[in-house]
Amino acid sequence: MTRRVTILGSTGSIGESTLSLIRESAPDDYKIVCLSAHTNADALAKQALEFRPEFVALGNADNQDFLHDALAGTGIKIGVGQKALIEAGAWHSDFIMAAIVGAAGLEPTLAAVEQGTTVGLANKECLVCAGDVFIKAVKSAGATLLPVDSEHNAIFQVLNQERPNEVRRLILTASGGPFRTLTTSQLQSVTRAQALNHPVWDMGEKISIDSATLMNKGLELIEASYLFQRPSSQIDIIIHPQSIIHSMVEYVDGSVLSQMGSPDMRIPIAYALAWPLRMETTVQQLNLAKIQKLEFYPPDSDKFSALRLARAALEAGGMAPTILNASNEVAVEAFLQDRLKFSALTDCIEIVMNSFKSEKSFAKPLQSIKDVLDIDERARVRTRELV
Ligand code: NDP
Repeated sequence: MTRRVTILGSTGSIGESTLSLIRESAPDDYKIVCLSAHTNADALAKQALEFRPEFVALGNADNQDFLHDALAGTGIKIGVGQKALIEAGAWHSDFIMAAIVGAAGLEPTLAAVEQGTTVGLANKECLVCAGDVFIKAVKSAGATLLPVDSEHNAIFQVLNQERPNEVRRLILTASGGPFRTLTTSQLQSVTRAQALNHPVWDMGEKISIDSATLMNKGLELIEASYLFQRPSSQIDIIIHPQSIIHSMVEYVDGSVLSQMGSPDMRIPIAYALAWPLRMETTVQQLNLAKIQKLEFYPPDSDKFSALRLARAALEAGGMAPTILNASNEVAVEAFLQDRLKFSALTDCIEIVMNSFKSEKSFAKPLQSIKDVLDIDERARVRTRELV
């Protein structure tokens, strides 16, 4: 049966990979019904002309005239602004790929979840910032959440969810990013171009910077805790530069199960798209004899303090992960605009985080999306002032 698919963030790296998988591997099995972008009206129009969705949403109104002209006469409905993004999330679908970057994806992804259908979650920030509130929404809607982040997808593939007591710990692997071997003083002078040049993965700008600071792994630690309902003490991180083992689950008898594959996001995307079946892809086959060596190192939380900050935020709970995420988003944007040095990125987040600690409700669980959005906004304002 043809499945109706929505892609939130279709013009990004994950969105494009999802479309290319559908185009190349199973065009008859999936019908693209809805796409969304933020500013890139040109790419959105091209996708819409190729896949003929029922609805397209553009978050930023600046380029709406271009989109209206490009799609004139096609009968494709166009929506603009935040309301349209939420409408896109709610567009009747069998599968929704949540691939907007940042907390901006929270409300559209929640609208998707509220359909009670299957949601592929790449947009980790929306889970990090809304944690328990998000998971509660998933449960009450009866939605199926499939992790698309390669590490969480790997864990999902090897985790026995029916007997959680048999699991001792989750082990997230990390490539270590482009600066793994640099010293703390060398990190002072790295440039935007160097930070964007990831040695293994080809990704959007924000996640590439997060990978360079290792904040990406910190966000993934928090994501794993909420997704798999495990405390910080049961989630370890290990550096594995080749990114062949995408994460592991250790069971109480000492068995460690892992999922392996070429470092290509089309694998977890295909898994989510076809779940509970598997689809054939053209991803390069794993050739371990050619790779020969798989290395592992402990992470260095002194050099990459984002790891320490993220674990502290997870353990503090309450508003801490929301602040961490919002502050990181603002700091990364400032770094990308050359307004903040690489080495100041995590300092900035730590100062903002500390500035909230004296608040009585700091560790109190957030109750609603309104709470999340309020804290998110306050942390953004404070980080902008600091930058
Ligand atoms: P990109 O930056 O490549 O794409 C982001 C997408 O979100 C684009 O479609 C963009 O539209 C849209 N977008 C950006 N800002 C907004 C906004 N304010 N409101 C609505 N839409 C917006 O990101 P990636 O594809 O790399 O990452 C997407 C998510 O997936 C992130 O959460 C990331 O952490 C996660 N992820 C990505 C991986 C990867 O390999 N890329 C791996 C694992 C997880 P426009 O093009 O118009 O700007």
